[in-house]
Amino acid sequence: MSPPPHHEVAAYALGLLDPEDHEAFESHLVECVDCQAELRELADVPALLDEIRRRRSPLEGRQG
Ligand SMILES: [Zn+2]
Repeated sequence: MSPPPHHEVAAYALGLLDPEDHEAFESHLVECVDCQAELRELADVPALLDEIRRRRSPLEGRQG
Protein backbone atom coordinates (compact mmCIF):
# COMPACT_ATOMS: atom_id res chain seq x y z
CA MET A 1 0.00 0.00 0.00
CA SER A 2 1.31 3.42 -0.83
CA PRO A 3 0.87 6.43 1.40
CA PRO A 4 -1.25 9.39 0.29
CA PRO A 5 0.69 10.81 -2.64
CA HIS A 6 0.84 14.37 -1.36
CA HIS A 7 4.50 14.49 -2.31
CA GLU A 8 3.67 13.72 -5.93
CA VAL A 9 2.23 17.18 -6.58
CA ALA A 10 5.44 18.57 -8.00
CA ALA A 11 6.13 15.51 -10.10
CA TYR A 12 2.57 15.59 -11.34
CA ALA A 13 2.79 19.27 -12.23
CA LEU A 14 6.00 18.57 -14.11
CA GLY A 15 4.54 15.60 -15.91
CA LEU A 16 7.12 13.26 -14.40
CA LEU A 17 4.73 10.64 -13.10
CA ASP A 18 4.26 7.30 -14.75
CA PRO A 19 0.82 6.83 -16.29
CA GLU A 20 -0.18 4.67 -13.33
CA ASP A 21 1.03 7.16 -10.75
CA HIS A 22 -0.45 9.98 -12.75
CA GLU A 23 -3.85 8.37 -12.60
CA ALA A 24 -3.48 7.47 -8.95
CA PHE A 25 -2.53 11.00 -8.11
CA GLU A 26 -5.44 12.46 -10.02
CA SER A 27 -7.89 10.37 -8.06
CA HIS A 28 -6.19 11.63 -4.93
CA LEU A 29 -6.18 15.19 -6.18
CA VAL A 30 -9.94 15.44 -6.57
CA GLU A 31 -10.32 14.69 -2.86
CA CYS A 32 -7.34 16.57 -1.48
CA VAL A 33 -7.68 20.32 -1.15
CA ASP A 34 -4.10 20.56 0.05
CA CYS A 35 -2.81 19.14 -3.18
CA GLN A 36 -5.22 21.24 -5.20
CA ALA A 37 -3.91 24.38 -3.55
CA GLU A 38 -0.33 23.27 -4.03
CA LEU A 39 -0.97 22.43 -7.64
CA ARG A 40 -2.25 25.92 -8.19
CA GLU A 41 1.00 27.31 -6.90
CA LEU A 42 2.98 24.92 -9.03
CA ALA A 43 0.91 25.53 -12.13
CA ASP A 44 3.45 27.99 -13.45
CA VAL A 45 6.45 25.83 -12.71
CA PRO A 46 6.50 23.68 -15.87
CA ALA A 47 6.45 26.74 -18.09
CA LEU A 48 9.11 28.27 -15.93
CA LEU A 49 11.35 25.23 -16.12
CA ASP A 50 10.80 25.09 -19.84
CA GLU A 51 12.00 28.63 -20.10
CA ILE A 52 15.05 27.88 -17.99
CA ARG A 53 15.90 24.80 -19.99
CA ARG A 54 15.66 26.79 -23.16
CA ARG A 55 18.21 29.25 -21.87
CA ARG A 56 20.69 26.65 -20.73
CA SER A 57 22.53 24.37 -23.05
CA PRO A 58 20.74 21.07 -23.53
CA LEU A 59 23.07 18.95 -21.44
CA GLU A 60 20.30 16.65 -20.40
CA GLY A 61 19.25 14.57 -23.32
CA ARG A 62 16.99 12.47 -21.22
CA GLN A 63 13.62 11.62 -22.59
CA GLY A 64 10.80 9.77 -21.00
ZN1 LIG B 1 -2.83 15.41 -1.12
